[in-house]
Amino acid sequence: MRLARRVLIAVSLVGASRTASADKNFLAIGGQELAKAPCLSPPPTTPEIQNWLVRRFEGQARASRTVHGGQLANQPQELLRIFEELVTAATDEPDPPFTTKRLDLSHCTTVFCGLQTLYGLDAGLRLAYLRARFGMNVSSLASRSLVVKEWKVTELNELIQALEDLPPHFFPFTENPRYFFRRRDARGTVAANAGLGVFDAWAAEKPGERRAILSHEIAHMLSRNVFDKSETWQQLGRWKRLGGEKWQSGAKNASVSYYAETNPFEDFAESFIAYRYRPELLRSASPGKYAYLSTYLFGGLDYADGSACSRRAPFAEEAARFAQELPQLPFAADIPLGEKECAAEWSAFVAGLIRQPKIDTRRLAGCLSAGALRSAFEARILATIPGGRRDLLAVSPAFQTMRLPPAEWPAFRRTFDGFVRDWLANSMSRYLANQILVLRSAGTACPNDPYAANDFLDLEGPTKDAMRSIVLANRELFSKLSMTLCERLKETGGDFPPKAPAVREYFFRP
Ligand SMILES: [Zn+2]
Repeated sequence: MRLARRVLIAVSLVGASRTASADKNFLAIGGQELAKAPCLSPPPTTPEIQNWLVRRFEGQARASRTVHGGQLANQPQELLRIFEELVTAATDEPDPPFTTKRLDLSHCTTVFCGLQTLYGLDAGLRLAYLRARFGMNVSSLASRSLVVKEWKVTELNELIQALEDLPPHFFPFTENPRYFFRRRDARGTVAANAGLGVFDAWAAEKPGERRAILSHEIAHMLSRNVFDKSETWQQLGRWKRLGGEKWQSGAKNASVSYYAETNPFEDFAESFIAYRYRPELLRSASPGKYAYLSTYLFGGLDYADGSACSRRAPFAEEAARFAQELPQLPFAADIPLGEKECAAEWSAFVAGLIRQPKIDTRRLAGCLSAGALRSAFEARILATIPGGRRDLLAVSPAFQTMRLPPAEWPAFRRTFDGFVRDWLANSMSRYLANQILVLRSAGTACPNDPYAANDFLDLEGPTKDAMRSIVLANRELFSKLSMTLCERLKETGGDFPPKAPAVREYFFRP
């Protein structure tokens, strides 16, 4: 949210960058500065992108699936998943009016045919590339809002170039940012924001300006809610929060642009792109900020001397070590809950199953053992990485945090502990919903061992593994719970919970 508001101000003043003084502009990088920067990525060609995609999915597991009437047969499984993400409208889209566009792929048997049909080949391949390589979903079909429009091929190129200008260790994004283009109600001069999209005012800019604006927004995304909130960072700009969204810098001459003087977050985004495109500007404004970005973000890559142009990925060894140490991380064990049995919590929970429309599994999650929470923490980290791949740990917020000075860890640890509780509560809801389904299908007799039949429906990958280890580590508790559930089922004649429309809806209600 805050990002959006920040940029509302930012881009409404984009025009000012062209008229400001020579050494300090409103924004650190505009089209002209960008054009002079070292090792810029050229616009990608369609054959290059197609080759990349073919190589990327070569030799991988294959699958068949029906998508919008098209029977896509024997396609790379990962590519199928990406395609489905691109062409499936999210249900949490906040901007009406909505469309119920019908897509027809009945003549297609391949993903490439689907991309060509729905977007045209040039745009379609670029959309798949952006998702596969950078973790970014910019498909207009991933939204059902009518105010979301398609990107033009030239605009997709600018986005790809802005991403390719950065070293590969920043990608893919760990979540699945949907970066839509562009709203009709562009609220006047707003051009872009870091979480939601680019607008008409952005499209009206020149190509170089557009790319610079995208880079600024990408920098916000790469702070990953870690680096621009870091105390070390905020000390470098001598930032003080005045209250609400108002900040004051005690070191304005250490900022690379007037906009960077707004708050530590704009300071970060502006400094980040200055590091990439105008390193000498950042180094002279603030050697400290330059060193911070070099150490924690760019891993020593230097654009001033061109050594960064080799596109070497730093942090690879460090991330591999982190992956090995992950199971021993201190985070979860520090949650002061211990191994208590929480009998009262459990009975309150079971009683609540009958009475309440919504169940507070978050509270219940606090009764699990420290070992279980550790598993949950590990799973939570892996769940933020596409496919739960340990080799991509370098992009996880947890790994990023571990690179900050140790003095900063406690603050982030609290944040991560919150993540873990939420994740665990969510997984438990799913687990319990699953248990009820299993018990229902068992008929009137309560099974001696409800786990035997339990295949942890609806859970996948690290989440499933962690949930299983949590259940095993707390077997007695889960066993009690399952038996109680079963008794209740019998009492209510199998209709459990009473009057609940469907078990799944009942538990998965947000
Ligand atoms: Zn910004």
